[in-house]
Amino acid sequence: MNVSRQGRMSLAALAVLVGSVTGSPRSGAQVTASLPSSEELLPIYREAAARYDVPWPYLAAIDRYAELTKPKSVREEAPYYGYAFHPALWSGIANPQPYDYHPFTIRLFGGLGLDGDHDGLAVPWDARDRVLAMARWIDHHVGESEVEEAVWEMFQDPVAVDRVNGFARIYQRFGWNPTGHCFPIPKRYPYTVKHTFGAGRSWGGRRIHEGVDIFAHYGTPVLASCYGYVELKGWNRYGGWRIGIRDLHNVYYYYAHLSSFAKGLRRGDVVQPGQVIGYVGSSGYGPPGTSGKFPPHLHFGLYKDTGRHEWAFNPSPLLAQWERLPQHVIYANR
Ligand SMILES: [Zn+2]
Repeated sequence: MNVSRQGRMSLAALAVLVGSVTGSPRSGAQVTASLPSSEELLPIYREAAARYDVPWPYLAAIDRYAELTKPKSVREEAPYYGYAFHPALWSGIANPQPYDYHPFTIRLFGGLGLDGDHDGLAVPWDARDRVLAMARWIDHHVGESEVEEAVWEMFQDPVAVDRVNGFARIYQRFGWNPTGHCFPIPKRYPYTVKHTFGAGRSWGGRRIHEGVDIFAHYGTPVLASCYGYVELKGWNRYGGWRIGIRDLHNVYYYYAHLSSFAKGLRRGDVVQPGQVIGYVGSSGYGPPGTSGKFPPHLHFGLYKDTGRHEWAFNPSPLLAQWERLPQHVIYANR
């Protein structure tokens, strides 16, 4: 019996099953995921990483993305933080006991479950057992050089692969659970916030305004509001020169109508709150380079994504919070 091959095929089948399930809360307020404390999980990731040669930021990122996109049906069966193995994979496909927590019989039937904390049981809701099983599966399946391939097998979704990679880079650079936000315009520059989320827009057909406009002079620095990675950078006929940054809550920060980008900033780069990412302009509403069709301003949008749904929510309450925070403007790109 070729165990690893069986494991691979059924992981893929699970992902298809999981992908077809829908249903999630839609609320702008709910932008942060419940997160175990660092004392709880980071040592477990590090231990698993050391044992199986899988970088801990990847383990953390897989868990994070799985948590943020966990369908309701899976959450009911696996009401714990992080990636959930299908019970049959944990126990072993041929195991007559589909919810087996005994290391010996799990091993006998080629299950992926592990007893990481040596308490005599291999239970998926014990993070030590689960994370170690995850790391071992990744290591045996593809080896450390191609973690991405394993991520693909786990989620069967190119978007998931990109985001897990992005999350892993954030963890790699800023450590576990970096927190903090920044108002997107330096407060010592003149600016005016127009709270017009949801208002009608005439250009480009019937649309609603999925963000807030912050009016400022040409060339005013635009700052990253979060710890995140640059998911998108370039031209769009509505947004002009724009940047999209995604954070560890799977929230997408959209900055549009820029006059230029920060020098050296590339797609995939990680950024931190206060880092200059570009400059205010009036680009957009036409082919690449179109500018001056409206007064210079930063269009700032926020989008929440569950992996199955994405929706814009009103940035005004968060902007008001961030506006009260001290700012630390960072010009350097590394
Ligand atoms: Zn706007």
